[in-house]
Amino acid sequence: VRYAEGKGWYDPRVEPRAPIAIDPASAVLHYAQEIFEGLKAYHAHDGSVTMFRPDANAARFRRSAERMAMAPLPEDLFLASLDELVRIDRQWIPTDEGGSLYLRPFMFASEVFLGVKPSSDYLYVVIASAVGSYFKGGVKPVALWVSQDYTRSAPGGTGAAKCGGNYAASLSAQAEAAERGCDQVVFLDAVERRYVEELGGMNVFFVYDDGTMVTPALTGTILPGITRDSILTLARDRGMTVVERPYSFDEWRTDAESGKLREAFACGTAAVITPIGRVAFPDGEFTMTGTEVTERLRRELVDIQRGRAADPYGWVHRVI
Ligand code: PMP
Repeated sequence: VRYAEGKGWYDPRVEPRAPIAIDPASAVLHYAQEIFEGLKAYHAHDGSVTMFRPDANAARFRRSAERMAMAPLPEDLFLASLDELVRIDRQWIPTDEGGSLYLRPFMFASEVFLGVKPSSDYLYVVIASAVGSYFKGGVKPVALWVSQDYTRSAPGGTGAAKCGGNYAASLSAQAEAAERGCDQVVFLDAVERRYVEELGGMNVFFVYDDGTMVTPALTGTILPGITRDSILTLARDRGMTVVERPYSFDEWRTDAESGKLREAFACGTAAVITPIGRVAFPDGEFTMTGTEVTERLRRELVDIQRGRAADPYGWVHRVI
């Protein structure tokens, strides 16, 4: 679907995947005015095809557009584009447990000019692609590298938006993590360099021995994850105490070493919920071993997503 100022949204189409020709002076190529989302469609337990909380992705896409001074795509157009594509591509949706049709809606500035100002033209596109289970051969704890050199987002920046530039800025830190044998990077806050914000592509939770959980508060520099939000609801409904507050890396390390902090987990659309194992930082490392609460929450959330458990929240959206 295209957008032009004064004309609105026009020219919706579904096409076989192929390269898009864009002018070398397209604004996105120079000033990175681009946003995206990621979600999955899958076969539920009863054979229907569903998506998990696509309305939340639509709302976040709209907020990202606002932050990036882009045309706000109407949420019903976002949702209709996904439904239509999933219906057309239904034969490509994997039927194996954990498999899904990954959907990648994105939008970029397509006006042709060299100059720093919001574009007046946009192209909104959705790619659909079959993917297997994130964990082949069972859930495996992730190893993390705590970056001291790089931050992902500063106050007033774009951390709460899902824009491509945030990920470009995180690649050096991610490469550093990989060099140290870690799967993901932990970003600390940009001001004090003390507080845990999130991982390269996931939010984090900490589980204490008294059953309480802590997750970094959304301060405007963290991506408001839809999985994070779902876990907050689910855990609180199960009577667990979950506190959203600033959480320093010192607190994490001290409480993990004393044994008070039993588990930590990361969450996001791709892996849903995954235990955190090794945590490496410039002066050393420690390893977290608990997985009990993590596994229980994972099972409960996946069961709702796949239609094996009741969905009192109306999270599951049926497409077919
Ligand atoms: N933080 C970042 C930086 C991410 O890229 C993602 C993945 N979208 C998340 C958190 C988790 O968000 P969600 O649960 O909506 O996938």
